[in-house]
Amino acid sequence: MDKICIVEGCPNKNHSKGYCRKHYGQLWRRGKITVGVEPVVYHKISEAMMCTLQNELESLNACYSNTVGFEGRIRWRRRINEVQTLLEKARAESNVHKIEAHANSA
Ligand SMILES: [Zn+2]
Repeated sequence: MDKICIVEGCPNKNHSKGYCRKHYGQLWRRGKITVGVEPVVYHKISEAMMCTLQNELESLNACYSNTVGFEGRIRWRRRINEVQTLLEKARAESNVHKIEAHANSA
């Protein structure tokens, strides 16, 4: 019956808002999810990071649409905007065609 974390590849149990304790904590402390052992370094743009951001954006959008209540939605909206900004920056600094090909194959 226990739901698991909505972060892709994370087997941990759902703690809050669809995230496990670890990822929920990451989201609120740092405003982002780090997948795997390596922390995401934002000044070093990589394809893996783009994927992480895209996954995060999808997760946030899912949380946003599942959240009832104005205040909760405002908070998710703010996170979504932050991730979108980072994603746009990453896109601008990266090879757009490569990323698009990757996104389409997903
Ligand atoms: Zn998790």
